[in-house]
Amino acid sequence: MEKGIGVRFLGTGAADWNGRDERGELRRLTSILVDRHILIDFTPTAEDMLPEGSRPDIIFYTHSHRDHYNPEAALKAGVKRVYLSQTWYDIAKVDFDRAAKALNMEPPLITPVYIGQQLQIEDLTVTPLPANHATGYMTEQTLIYLLEKQNTRLLYATDTGGIPALAARISGIDAHQKGSPITALIMEATMGVDYEADFRLFTHSSVALVERTVRVLKETKRYLPPVGQPVYITHLARTLHGTQADLDAHLPEPLRAAYDGLEVLF
Ligand SMILES: [Zn+2]
Ligand SMILES: [Zn+2]
Repeated sequence: MEKGIGVRFLGTGAADWNGRDERGELRRLTSILVDRHILIDFTPTAEDMLPEGSRPDIIFYTHSHRDHYNPEAALKAGVKRVYLSQTWYDIAKVDFDRAAKALNMEPPLITPVYIGQQLQIEDLTVTPLPANHATGYMTEQTLIYLLEKQNTRLLYATDTGGIPALAARISGIDAHQKGSPITALIMEATMGVDYEADFRLFTHSSVALVERTVRVLKETKRYLPPVGQPVYITHLARTLHGTQADLDAHLPEPLRAAYDGLEVLF
């Protein structure tokens, strides 16, 4: 089995990033490929970012927003197994049946998942955790994910306004509770440094919030990364961030802006 958790960022933009912008910058809608065959979210914008010859067979969804969820794109990519929150399973089942019919394909196996449930995909353990986010379905519980393999504990947190208390508790990073530290963090920063007062405050995070989160986790020893490993920010809003070059030059340590096509072994 492969050592560590391999992540390829397929897209790193928020919902407003619709193609190359006036600065020449392009971020596709946010999704990642884990260990070369497991997707977390996927849209048509990232179809060209799948590595040559890769056929992802599994997808986990964070939530039903259209910048993350597109049944046809998942089926076309090769997905056979779908995991998503039980709170919108009925909706997804209808969507996927319809998409499969339109593509003349078999519908995938959809597994509804629950907060805190540990799912085993070969040697990777995936735990759904609550996000602080909302969709048009008032009863949908959106998710972030803890990914574990051997000594790596990676928290993948998009779309969410901070890390909710229950997510911190289950993942072990709540200093009030006993728990194992995480060793890696990918967190959304929809808002850039100069956009602290943005209206997205209730559903998304900012660079300052990610920085504060990391500082607290380090001080409480609940984030113990290998030396030199950055915290990657993703889901960047087009109008709320500088260019990749600006971000590379000015983001506070240990934050680093992920970009489309970046591959990291955690
Ligand atoms: Zn989003
Ligand atoms: Zn969203």
